[in-house]
Amino acid sequence: MKSTVPATRVTWPTRSRCSSVVRVPCSHSWRTSASSSEADVRFTLNLPPPALPTGGWRFLFHPSEAFSMKHPLILCSALVVSTLVATVLSAAAAPTLADFQAQAARSKLRLELPDYPRTADEISNRTTAALAEADAALLGLASQDAGKASFASTFGAFEEITGRVSTWANHIGTLAESHPDKRLRDTARDAGQRIEAWGIALEYREDLYRALQRWADTKPALDAQQQRLVDFTLRDFRRAGLALPPAERQQVELLRKSLSELERQFDVNINEARAPLDFTAEELAGVPATLLNSPGVKQPDGRYRVMANITWHVAAVQDNADNAEVRRRVTVARGQLAREKNIPVLAKLVALRAEIARRLGYATWADFRTETRMTGSAAVALKFEEDLVKGLQPKFVEEVETLRQLKAAHTGQADARIEAWDTAYYTNKLRKEKYAVDTEALRVFFAYEPTLRGMFAIYEKVFALKFTQIEPPYVWAPGVQLWIAADAGSGEPIGAFYLDMFPREGKYNHFAHFRQNLGRTLPDGGYQLPVSVLLCNFSPPTADKPSLLSHDNVKTLFHEFGHVMHNLLGRARYSSFNYAGVPKDFIEAPSQMLENWVWNKAVLDTFAADYRDPSKKIPAETIEAMIRAREATEGVAYRRQLSLGLMDLGLHTLSPGDAWTTDVVELTNAVGARVSIPPAADTAFVAYFGHLTGYDGGYYGYLWSKVMAADMASVFEAAPNGYLDEKIGRRLRDEVYAAGHTRDVAESVEKFLGRPRSQKAFLQYVGIKE
Ligand SMILES: [Zn+2]
Repeated sequence: MKSTVPATRVTWPTRSRCSSVVRVPCSHSWRTSASSSEADVRFTLNLPPPALPTGGWRFLFHPSEAFSMKHPLILCSALVVSTLVATVLSAAAAPTLADFQAQAARSKLRLELPDYPRTADEISNRTTAALAEADAALLGLASQDAGKASFASTFGAFEEITGRVSTWANHIGTLAESHPDKRLRDTARDAGQRIEAWGIALEYREDLYRALQRWADTKPALDAQQQRLVDFTLRDFRRAGLALPPAERQQVELLRKSLSELERQFDVNINEARAPLDFTAEELAGVPATLLNSPGVKQPDGRYRVMANITWHVAAVQDNADNAEVRRRVTVARGQLAREKNIPVLAKLVALRAEIARRLGYATWADFRTETRMTGSAAVALKFEEDLVKGLQPKFVEEVETLRQLKAAHTGQADARIEAWDTAYYTNKLRKEKYAVDTEALRVFFAYEPTLRGMFAIYEKVFALKFTQIEPPYVWAPGVQLWIAADAGSGEPIGAFYLDMFPREGKYNHFAHFRQNLGRTLPDGGYQLPVSVLLCNFSPPTADKPSLLSHDNVKTLFHEFGHVMHNLLGRARYSSFNYAGVPKDFIEAPSQMLENWVWNKAVLDTFAADYRDPSKKIPAETIEAMIRAREATEGVAYRRQLSLGLMDLGLHTLSPGDAWTTDVVELTNAVGARVSIPPAADTAFVAYFGHLTGYDGGYYGYLWSKVMAADMASVFEAAPNGYLDEKIGRRLRDEVYAAGHTRDVAESVEKFLGRPRSQKAFLQYVGIKE
């Protein structure tokens, strides 16, 4: 579920995608001369009372992070896990959960597993009880005797109460995505919605805000982490409008409800947009049979129906159709999706956001949205994007010229130009003709078990850890494994993680990390250890073959397990500052950094070997060819990303006055034309840009973290042992993972880098060599 400001303190753990999904591509205008005061009237009438996220709470528990890869749902085979389980169970002195718990207790660490509910009724009942208990505790907080209040009875209590609800939401959120029983999954989702609504209402609790503010006003002596918790908690209430006079605040709440309704409409219009185009077989020359033979594509008149609203249909045509006019028609139809309905909605959305931001004391919506991010302001985000546009310019120009020459040779027209409908086609041609790598053939090097063990060995070495599989007291489905991570030096447990790695009917069908228990200091001074779950969907083994991963799967595995590491290695006192407590434009960076490992021969050679003959490693030239193929079109791809980020920032840095009069299509098409391949005439990509609800004012974050990931990876690259360097790994563990958000992330990253941040490593990564 998307929300105006998704980072509520207590929300249902909806997943955010790790990889950005870019919908392909505009002129239509909607103008209004309405002033901002008219806007109030227009948007505050006849409002339904939707559950409405508002303020800017940093999230306490997070979403999982998910890749957008579709996998078929295949009934799970538990075969895969049998080997490892057998190995562990047959070992004479296999450690048990109790052993690890006893060891943890000796160091004042508490290793507890989630107490997952076993039935749908249990979920309902325990959710009701958890919310009632939290409500009673919050009432106690709000109504306490101000003269006797303390940090523990105010901000400490607030953190504790919301943390408990979040943890419960994490547990049932995972079951909602993975439990084999549909009724249980559905009940877990319903319970999640109750918790989300409860979390949203929390943001408007004036009694809580007053009690907290009253105590903060006494200017108590606090240590750094306590002060930070106080500052952020109050900031988030202010972001919800609670610092405003009552009448003003009610106005903002009403505007937010209007905004939420507009966002919903925008999403619905995208989902409902349809654009069928029929072509003859001859017109579709070059388009793969997978599209032509797909159910519903062949029409009774013998023609083939391409749906411009189905992304893979569009990609199949744009990548492969030899007929340029066919590609043009599909591209234009795509660029006109939802145009008539959504351009007016978007124009109002943008104006309303600008008005809400103004009322909350921000110059623009993007300033409001970035306040809680690393960038901190729209100006910093804009500068970042524009610097990157410049940095990529030579590569972009060079790549476009390469594509243009390919087109000139292909069409016989020396003065050919690359149009919006040519980019994908000639990119694909370039890859096939010049950088052919048979990625399917690489699967034999990545049998699931050696790959998993190989990755574990790498993370164990780099972060000085040891992973041990144990017999789980309970799992929600057969085949789910439980592992304990311990510090390699002291042997102390640092946390636990579950692996649910193969598809199953009804299971979440991407790849994602789900946070379970939150690391935090307990009232008795002990430390509660974090717990994670990985839900993956690797292709299951067959009777004669093990599960064989693609190179892309391996990259995903390294990325997602990076989130497990980030969660398990957090050592902040308050769970709000661990892992997902970091700014949203940073959370992906460490995991994106770890993706670099799978492009490195020294790393791959530690585990990747032909499962039929393990003496065979991936040839160096194959890895080189894959890197060259990746680099060949990164300039065009990232300039496209930048154009989307700049469209978003362009729309959301408008002043309230300008927002009402700006032509959103003209503005965004001009950005597209300046930064990327110019959009096709008479199209309005922005009407179909779904990330404008949810990632609004924050779309830049994908590249922001990617650039930081490359910067951080470069420290390993320069180290004596490269990606396997333990000294650098230790520094990452201490300065970035353990510190979490107990201090500004920029400071942590620079402590790790040992220098200021830079875009240089990213530009090298995309193939710009100095
Ligand atoms: Zn991720």
